[in-house]
Amino acid sequence: MTTASDSDFALAIHGGAGTILRSRMTPEREAAYHAGLRRALDAGRAVLADGGAALDAVTAAVMVLEDEPLFNAGRGAVYTSAGKQEMDAAVMNGRDRAAGAVAGICGPRNPILAARAVMEHSGPVLLIGESAMAFCREHGIAFEEPSYFHTEQRWQALQDTLAMRRSGAEDQDESRKHGTVGAVARDRNGHLAAATSTGGMTAKMPGRVGDSPVIGAGTWADDETCAVSGTGHGEIFIRYAAGHEIASRMRYAGQSLEEASRAVVMDMLAPAGGSGGIIAVDRAGNVSLPFNCSGMYRGVVRGDGALRTAIYDEPLVEYGQS
Ligand code: ASP
Repeated sequence: MTTASDSDFALAIHGGAGTILRSRMTPEREAAYHAGLRRALDAGRAVLADGGAALDAVTAAVMVLEDEPLFNAGRGAVYTSAGKQEMDAAVMNGRDRAAGAVAGICGPRNPILAARAVMEHSGPVLLIGESAMAFCREHGIAFEEPSYFHTEQRWQALQDTLAMRRSGAEDQDESRKHGTVGAVARDRNGHLAAATSTGGMTAKMPGRVGDSPVIGAGTWADDETCAVSGTGHGEIFIRYAAGHEIASRMRYAGQSLEEASRAVVMDMLAPAGGSGGIIAVDRAGNVSLPFNCSGMYRGVVRGDGALRTAIYDEPLVEYGQS
């Protein structure tokens, strides 16, 4: 856990808990993941250092991760069992618990901007599929052709998964199945926000929606307690209301951010088969990044400007001021 002074800001990001096994990671790939995380931290840091809102910082950081094909969101999203990409995203403002989410969309270049438009311009909190896309067109959200979102690596992961499924031997390789991107922030005015965006799980059933766009499960923000973004086996995160459970433990049981988030990830989600992790920040700017699997692409930046990132069960590596 890392802590902040009262006037400081804090931004934490994740690029998914489905990390490539260390034995299969190359130095080049590892460097590319760290660089992608640093670019996202830098985008959010620029907003917060300027006195900007946590909501704008998490949006900016997630957009960078969506644009980066290495991560499972936006460009580079995984495929459903029918060979299509269906993306989910959500954003929540801790200041007033305003929230917006989209599910099952493919077209908006940045699904997080679609979620943000739902939050800002619609009565509903969650819009799905074709109706969500029509709403995005009406509100001037930028679209891309399907080819923009395609990556050979995700297509191959689908073929491998389907082949294993046919032979009745699907393994649990996290890097082939999982991924998601997210950001949580505390701005200099003490406000919190969370944003999460994902392609979901490889070879998921068409129409399946995970935890990311479910407020209280994979995305949560409330200035009184914490902001949370999750990554992992979405069905379990939904059933255990992961994000809201962390906030409730803080609110009603007096647990610290670190106690609450570790307890949920290690003692609730893990025994239930919910492999994955969360990133969380509280109103004092404390940050917690627990995960119960082999790794989670993650990073933190504060007012000192140093960009800190990590992938496996290892301390954050510091890159100095940007
Ligand atoms: N939580 C995401 C989902 O279930 C996937 C992941 O983070 O790996 O859709």
